[in-house]
This record gives sequence, structure tokens and C-alpha cells, in this order.
Amino acid sequence: MTNFTESERIGLAQRLAEVTERAAVAARAAGRSPDELLIIPVTKFQPESLTRALYDLGVRDFAENRHQDARVKASACEDLAGIVWHFVGQLQSKKARQVRAYSRVIHSVDRVSLVEALAFEHPLEPELATGCFIQVNLTVDADRGGVADTEDVQGVAEAILAAPGLELLGVMAVAPLGEEPRPAFARLRAISDRVRLVAPSATMISAGMTNDFEEAILEGATHLRIGSAITGNRQPNG
Ligand SMILES: *Cc1c(COP(=O)(O)O)cnc(C)c1O
Repeated sequence: MTNFTESERIGLAQRLAEVTERAAVAARAAGRSPDELLIIPVTKFQPESLTRALYDLGVRDFAENRHQDARVKASACEDLAGIVWHFVGQLQSKKARQVRAYSRVIHSVDRVSLVEALAFEHPLEPELATGCFIQVNLTVDADRGGVADTEDVQGVAEAILAAPGLELLGVMAVAPLGEEPRPAFARLRAISDRVRLVAPSATMISAGMTNDFEEAILEGATHLRIGSAITGNRQPNG
């Protein structure tokens, strides 16, 4: 584990405070309360020391997008009480159970077969459901992650509602490249409204990254997945 220097710690605290303030300004501009927002630092490619430094600053929710790295980091940080891991990357069905083992929330559920792989009865702790967001593909490129067809979103929603051990939280998307983010997030909000017809409690929207989180907040985002604006461009093991 690399050490986190005092100047790195100060820079990190400043970036976190800036992002928090910008998010609050956007929330108020949208007539929303900043309390509705969960800022989740995406710590991919970052050392465990950065996770610990953010934890010391009061952060409890962290996101990772690659299972191999996430598993190692989650296990190394087991001593951090109350830490919550969010998985935001593409997920192979055969890895589903492993990812579920350390993730409280999975933002990238994009097909019924993955729902089936994730489903699990907790006979002793039925309240410990894994939170699920349905990832929606807002592009016309079917190779990008997420459910491509709005009709299929309903199907995945119904599968999660029926699956033991899973709780449908809402929808998630990444803004398409080369397009204004706000109209794309407006489409996501419309999809969220449709999901809520079958799942009234699935009110959350996971949207917004470093370059577009204010637009996402204006379109109802509740879970912001923010990487470099918080972590800076620190290199792995740097
Ligand atoms: C990396 C990543 C983010 C954060 O990206 P930044 O642009 O660094 O904020 C958000 N969501 C997903 C799915 C990611 O993979």
C-alpha cells in the first residue's frame, strides 16, 4: 500500500468539497434538496490509500467497475466500519455471485439472465437485499453497456421485483459521447417514470460523472458516480 502524503490528502479534501458544493448548487437550481444526492467516488485504478483517505473525510460509499480490483480492495478495506461498495462495471453472469458478496449495490444490471445469476435467498438475513439499478443504454450503439430497448427495461424490472434477495432501486446510465448530456438524462428520467409504473419504490436514478453531474442532477439524478473530479489523476501505485 502506498502512502498518501499530506498534500495529496489536502488536494483530495478540496476536490471532494468542491464537487459537493457544485452538486448542492445544481440541486438547489433544480428545486431539490442536496440531501437527496449520494456522491459516490469511483476509485477504480486508485490505490487503497485513497479509499482510506476518503473514508477519513467521512465518505462511506465507494464505486468500482472491475471485479478483480474491486474484490481485492473490498477485502483490504474490511476494517473500515460501515463502508458500502457499489459495483458499476459490466458484469459477467458467472461472476455475479462473487460481486454480490462484497457489493451492497450493483448499478449495471442489464439483462434477465444476470438477474437470475444474482438472485439469492438470505434465509438468515432477509433484509440484506442487494440493491439493483437497471443500466440503460442511451446510445444507438448496442455494444455499449445497458439495456437497449425501453420495452426490455420493463422485463428486467419485473425480473428483479420477482427475484429473492434483490431490491430494485431505479435506473442507471452513462451519457452518450458526442451528445449534449442533458437531453440524454431527460430520456433516462422518462424511462425512470415508466419503471415506476411497475415498481413505485424504484425512485433512484444513478447518473452523472465528472463531466456531466450537474446536468444529471437537473434531470433528477440521485446517485452520482464521480471519479477524476474527486480522485484527481493520481496514477496507480503513484
Ligand atoms: C469510471 C466511471 C465513472 C466515473 O468517471 P469520471 O468521468 O472519472 O467521473 C462513472 N461511472 C462508471 C460506470 C465508470 O466506469
